[in-house]
Amino acid sequence: MTLLAKRSIIKEDKSNIITLGAIAKEEKMKDPSVTNATIGMLYGEDSKLFAFKSVDNALNGLSTDEKYAYGATPGSKAFHEAVKMWVFRNYYEEMKDNSKVMATPGGTGALSNTFSNYLNEDDKALLPNYMWGNYKQCLYENHQGFETYKLFDDKGGFNVADLKEKMLLMKKSQGRVLFVINDPCHNPTGYTMTSTEWDLVIDLMNEVSSDGTPVILLHDMAYIDYAKEGFEYTRDNIYKYKRLNENCLVIMAFSGSKTLALYGVRIGAQVAYANNQETLTDFAKANKFSSRSKWSNPSNLGQNIIIKCFTDEAYKKSFEEELKMASNTLVERAEIFLNECKNVKLETLPFKCGFFITIPCKNPDLVYQKLVEKKVHIIPMGNVVRVTISAISKEECKKLPKMIKEAILASE
Ligand code: PLP
Repeated sequence: MTLLAKRSIIKEDKSNIITLGAIAKEEKMKDPSVTNATIGMLYGEDSKLFAFKSVDNALNGLSTDEKYAYGATPGSKAFHEAVKMWVFRNYYEEMKDNSKVMATPGGTGALSNTFSNYLNEDDKALLPNYMWGNYKQCLYENHQGFETYKLFDDKGGFNVADLKEKMLLMKKSQGRVLFVINDPCHNPTGYTMTSTEWDLVIDLMNEVSSDGTPVILLHDMAYIDYAKEGFEYTRDNIYKYKRLNENCLVIMAFSGSKTLALYGVRIGAQVAYANNQETLTDFAKANKFSSRSKWSNPSNLGQNIIIKCFTDEAYKKSFEEELKMASNTLVERAEIFLNECKNVKLETLPFKCGFFITIPCKNPDLVYQKLVEKKVHIIPMGNVVRVTISAISKEECKKLPKMIKEAILASE
């Protein structure tokens, strides 16, 4: 007999990332020669968790109140402005008044709040077919479901045509469309959309919403600050939101875990952008309610670190320099990995930059087992295996493609 409520009986966190990540961590503790390419955190070449010195300094300079006092449910005004300044950068002045921020526990809190408030019970969200699996759990928790659109077209570009087809189906079946784009450095593939693809998405949102249908884009920007193309490129794409009509809303899910390596501090934000003030007022009201009911208030410590790193000129300068270096390390690791893939003829899904590289294969679970035998831990998911290059050294990036190729051949 179970005491669980009906919908909770099937609840089980089957996430490979968490389960297999824990196994890999344990194995690596026992034997440092193990390669742990599972969990989405940044590690140095010395296999130690990477921490930004500027973030550490900001933390150490906080007062007792700034560290430990309760924060306000939506977050502080200073935090809201700091996040807007960071996310919009050169476009801050032009975009700030059409935007509102809600502090959340990580990007996950931002995703969860957005699903809660922009889908009705039993409605579905539109997710990319390759995705961070936790979207599905957040939706189930909110009594909602999902459909998927194909992330890639035949040429390996963003599949706007399939997204359009699925958006129109959603519009017909539930009278509103909420879709997720994870860009740049998409998890798990590492794909980054082109400027033209973003233009097409904006056009599509305007088209689908032209008759008054609400169209909500949940832009998961967890890895925004690791785009190879740099800050300007990603913010130029965000600036395109100015072209949206008044029936559209974008909620950007910002992650302090990834931008500042504050994984365990649990700080992030919903950054809403709309060309309609009523939409923004509604956003602030409903999401404050949800935050109060789910976590009461977000990390004050995290907010105050972010305020310093994003607005104090001295901290900001050194933080940005460190971020650039961290981002360059990822680019170098990716280059080494992809070069070796070419050498051993190992195919990857379209990749531009980021924490992960994904390899299609027929038997991901078998490939995983074969690699574990060789002391290498990756993540099998669907019809691919994901390699977390942020967590391994350049030397490991060089030796892995051949090992993966051999494991794939042995498992076919
Ligand atoms: N979105 C993506 C694509 C992720 O990979 C992650 C974490 O791995 C998150 C969101 C949420 O991260 P956090 O809640 O730690 O900010």
